Amino acid sequence: MMSLIRVASIIKESVVDGPGFRTVVFMQGCPRECPGCHNPEQIPAEGGEETTVDEVVRRVESGLTKLTKGITFSGGDPFFQPAALYDVIKLLKQRNPQLDIWAYTGYGYEEIKDLPALKLIDVLVDGPYVETLRDISLPFMGSSNQRLIDVSSTKKTGHIVEWENGQKA
Ligand code: SF4
Repeated sequence: MMSLIRVASIIKESVVDGPGFRTVVFMQGCPRECPGCHNPEQIPAEGGEETTVDEVVRRVESGLTKLTKGITFSGGDPFFQPAALYDVIKLLKQRNPQLDIWAYTGYGYEEIKDLPALKLIDVLVDGPYVETLRDISLPFMGSSNQRLIDVSSTKKTGHIVEWENGQKA
């Protein structure tokens, strides 16, 4: 697959972007400019590095260990590149079905729920970062307006089901 994707960085063994040890793909580009943005250098669409989906998969896989629980897509906003996001998750899931997938986005779930990438994501952390609602006690979130959404249960029930630690996702 030769689809292109623009990434800022890929890190391994994060413990703050979802449960367990996770590899995190920071995708480049975001349509927002939230005051107090945690990664402002990842906002410009032309920043970061343009590469291929295959290359990102190769880099992610080179950092996986027996302890890796999953992969998280962050940014920037991964949904700024929805087609590339779908392609990269699809390939990673095909080759590593044991890994769970988390994604952070500034969009609300309702705005992006019909995008193909959502079918492949276990947990979506939605909503922009709101500095006045900053709360460092919340697990895996920056501000209290955000939600940890269990995507498959939400799709099944038709209403937002929040992810709770300890679930299989
Ligand atoms: S959505 Fe996230 S990356 Fe984008 S401007 Fe807001 S805090 Fe920064």
